[in-house]
Amino acid sequence: MRIQLLPDQLISQIAAGEVVDRPASALKELLENSLDAGSTDVQVALIQGGIKTLRVADNGIGIRKEDLNMALMRHATSKIASLEDLESVASLGFRGEALASIASVSRMQVTSRTSEENHAWRITANGGEVAPLEPAALAEGTVIEVQDLYFNTPARRKFLKQESTEFGHCESAFHRIALSKPEVAFTLQHNGKVSARYLQATPQKRVQDVLGKDFSDEAIFFDESTAGLRFWGVAAKPTFNRHNRDTQYTYVNGRFVRDKLLAHAIRQAYQDVLHHDRHPAYVLFLECDPSLVDVNVHPSKTEVRFRDGQAIHRFIFHSLHKALAAPVGQINQQVNPANTFQAPEVSYPKYQAQMPFTAREPQSFYQTMFGDLAARNSQEAGTSTDRFLQQFSSENTETRVQNLLENEDATLNFPLGFAIAQLHGVYILAQNAEGLVVVDMHAAHERIMYERLKNALDCQQIAMQPLLLPLSFQADKLEVALIEEMLSSGSDALQQLGFELAVLSPTTLAIRAVPMMLQEADVVRLARDVLKDLREFGASRALTERRNEMLGTMACHAAVRANRHLTIQEMNALLRDMETTERSGQCNHGRPTWFQVTMQELDKMFMRGK
Ligand code: ADP
Ligand code: MG
Repeated sequence: MRIQLLPDQLISQIAAGEVVDRPASALKELLENSLDAGSTDVQVALIQGGIKTLRVADNGIGIRKEDLNMALMRHATSKIASLEDLESVASLGFRGEALASIASVSRMQVTSRTSEENHAWRITANGGEVAPLEPAALAEGTVIEVQDLYFNTPARRKFLKQESTEFGHCESAFHRIALSKPEVAFTLQHNGKVSARYLQATPQKRVQDVLGKDFSDEAIFFDESTAGLRFWGVAAKPTFNRHNRDTQYTYVNGRFVRDKLLAHAIRQAYQDVLHHDRHPAYVLFLECDPSLVDVNVHPSKTEVRFRDGQAIHRFIFHSLHKALAAPVGQINQQVNPANTFQAPEVSYPKYQAQMPFTAREPQSFYQTMFGDLAARNSQEAGTSTDRFLQQFSSENTETRVQNLLENEDATLNFPLGFAIAQLHGVYILAQNAEGLVVVDMHAAHERIMYERLKNALDCQQIAMQPLLLPLSFQADKLEVALIEEMLSSGSDALQQLGFELAVLSPTTLAIRAVPMMLQEADVVRLARDVLKDLREFGASRALTERRNEMLGTMACHAAVRANRHLTIQEMNALLRDMETTERSGQCNHGRPTWFQVTMQELDKMFMRGK
């Protein structure tokens, strides 16, 4: 066969395979066109999963009569004119392929009216064969109707799935776009029934409308900027995790993308607080100068390439990590904007609900009430748990706490309220302005110890507590070999972690010092577990890559055991600590450490006021 140029229509049909491989991709292109045209109201109507009919009506700027023909031509666009334009492209479309591709594989009608015209014009294309323009009636904007998608390309049509599956994909495409443009109203109809209607809203409200109240209730809203970059959005708290990646939306300059770099940075920010087989949920937006990102990497434009990927990765990781680490009080403060839109209706107790947060900072209030104790506590990261808790049992503190309890208003000032009892040696019950707070004592304490250990290791000062009498224990060959190897190689890993161990005999090890924070723990079991981790990870990785797991093991030993009786003062000390500790809302394994049962919810359980 000789080499020949392909006919235009065939080129479009080939392109259609990439740009519009199924109704959902055609819908995505049409929606993007409507948004590029500045529409504030976009209505979608589908029949049979979009295969029979796919109709998008908008109130945007419209297409001029003399441009209607061009709109259907391949590589015809009003959005860029030069390579420079492409580098700074701010519109969603720019390739000028979508309408031509769709027109080549369907029966398409474009009806449009600009503000200059006194009636609309319509152009019809049948498998790419364009008929002459005709006048039409339309108030404003553009209506594009696509019938019988792939009627002339049976091979492609064969790949289509069941109507309900195709509709599902259309719905996802619709949701992605709706999430990115809260300032635009959207309606989606399928087979004559309205399946979604979103009014113009704030970003938080739109997230709630699209993803539901369960998600928005458990989400943190944040907004971070640095030179030329902005990263903001709504990220679910780690306790609201998923077993799949469905609730993960990332956008770059308003465009939905699937990007490995973004996904990796986000995953890392969650890593510390999420169990590894669970997936976080989020809707996140990165905004940057268009010249810093290449959007022309893939025909469907869902992939991007960053000029300086590392800087973007760092910025995203830090912004999100910070948002997720915000102590209890701050999280609730941030989540407030979203919550103000919620209906008061509450069905059953929820995790970590919004808490009232009065104008006073918990830290400063804490300091006024507990004076220098608070300051001492933060300085003495190395203080043992129990000794730390005992500080609060001092007479002086006791009277202060007593005064506080007598003063009703005071309880309002602590997000987690005041302890009233310990339940079966496992839970702390506390009263706050909203109602009842239930805390998993061990999980909460473990988290606090973990964060303290991390801080201490970061500052290279996990304080050591030498033991008056070294503790010796029977060790196996591998444990002894590990210590010998570490001593002979000059590794200071153990020391950095706050331990001093020595080999007494081929079957005995001695513990000479342990981290001060952990001196109340079962020291032998602690040392054994630490050795086990060191052996598994290797001494250097235990302090780098595997550092958090290492510290997790240690924190677990440090945390108060169940069935240990705590005084009210000790419980309050723990609550105050939780309020000022990063990521205290969940334990190291991503389980919640506390939850709120509001008065409303209790009233409901008892059917009060009914
Ligand atoms: P692109 O979006 O890449 O420019 P398309 O094939 O999607 O290419 O659209 C071709 C042109 O048709 C657009 O550049 C735009 O000028 C015009 N157009 C398409 N849809 C609309 C719409 N809903 N409202 C106004 N203009 C539109
Ligand atoms: Mg387009």
